[in-house]
Amino acid sequence: MKIVLASSNKNKIKEFKRILEPLDIELITQTELGVKEVPETGVSFEENSIIKSKNAYMQTNLPTIADDSGIEVDALNGEPGIFSARYAGEPSDDEENNKLLLKNLKNSDSQSKLARYQCVISYVDKHYLEKPAVFHAIWEGKITFNAKGTNGFGYDPIFYLDEYGCTSAELDQDIKNEISHRAIVEEKPPFEGGELVNWLK
Ligand code: IMP
Repeated sequence: MKIVLASSNKNKIKEFKRILEPLDIELITQTELGVKEVPETGVSFEENSIIKSKNAYMQTNLPTIADDSGIEVDALNGEPGIFSARYAGEPSDDEENNKLLLKNLKNSDSQSKLARYQCVISYVDKHYLEKPAVFHAIWEGKITFNAKGTNGFGYDPIFYLDEYGCTSAELDQDIKNEISHRAIVEEKPPFEGGELVNWLK
């Protein structure tokens, strides 16, 4: 089965390829198919995920998945959330994003370092165009000022996991791909996006 991945994030693509390896799926990226990207104008991970999967489906006519994900930090009232990729501005820069997050956390009144990754994966094909299938997961951790590790991407060097005693950038890549928000998604009830779901028709 051929599935398009509506992402041009090299690290995300790498993780998806690895996670889907055991299945009989040929994963093609939207970049390989020349899909024109769409602005992420949604106000939630769910909306942005569906905007991306529908956009790639409309241009390729192939079953498509999209991942919209990000990190929420309690002391920053859930920021950067859906703005995780572009927290420090565009083009997206992981190192700058991490620096800004630590700076804002240092200046925050709250002592909490609790944080979580959110991931919403949506699937669209001709049967799921009206109501894309939506999958969601949360991965809990906390922010450390002691950045460590070179695996993974994004906020992984500062995302600390008590149960492993290390950051997610120090985890073996295969372990991350078994336990991460991207690996453990579960199906949610159909998305009732109304206007938005119709937006790209
Ligand atoms: P998106 O491509 O708009 O979904 O933005 C995803 C952004 O969230 C990435 O650029 C990272 O900043 C962050 N993010 C999502 N998943 C991960 C992860 O597994 N590790 C580290 N950062 C992540």
